[in-house]
Amino acid sequence: MEGQVATAPAERLARLVNESSSTVALTGAGISVPSGIPDFRTPGTGMWEKVNPLEVASIEAFHGDPARFWSFYRPRFAALADVDPNPAHDVLVELERGGLLEAVVTQNVDRLHRKAGTERVIEVHGSIDSASCTSCGASWKLEQVEGLFDDDGVAVCQCCLGLVKPDVVLFGELLPEAAIAEAQSLAASADLLLCIGSSLEVHPVAGLPELTIAAGGEVAIVTQGPTPYDDVAAVRMSGDVVEDLAAVLAASSSSPDA
Ligand code: ZN
Repeated sequence: MEGQVATAPAERLARLVNESSSTVALTGAGISVPSGIPDFRTPGTGMWEKVNPLEVASIEAFHGDPARFWSFYRPRFAALADVDPNPAHDVLVELERGGLLEAVVTQNVDRLHRKAGTERVIEVHGSIDSASCTSCGASWKLEQVEGLFDDDGVAVCQCCLGLVKPDVVLFGELLPEAAIAEAQSLAASADLLLCIGSSLEVHPVAGLPELTIAAGGEVAIVTQGPTPYDDVAAVRMSGDVVEDLAAVLAASSSSPDA
């Protein structure tokens, strides 16, 4: 009995994945931690313990003191540009290629799901992949933004001299409507919502498991630390995200249902 406990959740989750006709993954910072990106909600390592997010990462801060905003974000973006996906991202690519995963909805702005090769990614908090002029809407890829900085360290539009802002959702900003609507519709029609590396506390993703459950679907959670949905989850895994997902993939491919 005791011996089976360690592998049972992976097998149960694999069976759910194999039986589901629509599985949607919902990912948060925890899936990117093995890539070396710190989870800002983790006590002790979180970057918001050293800096007040409202002072640097809000839309007010961006407009009020763009030089300070960029002094925080510029090195961070440069570091993120070189980060690679990890095997947890790869498991979701495998599931999608095998027809077992409909889409990935992510809170992460690090673009690692796309880099890994997932085709359908919905980024509900935007992405560092591009930056846009707040005046005329002109857009640049992350790799081009470095060429837009003036002597004060502010990214300036080459067309109209307006302020260029990364296409990530800052504190105090509205969420991207189309992405949210797509995420909600996917969650509501999913047989299985596979939540990975998210505390499920930040809206809008905090409300997605509820949509799945209300429509008769199941929720599975692969996340270290508590979430508001732990009691209603069909499967709950809380180990190393790479090991947990690898175990699920292995069990899924070896299952007779696969
Ligand atoms: Zn412009």
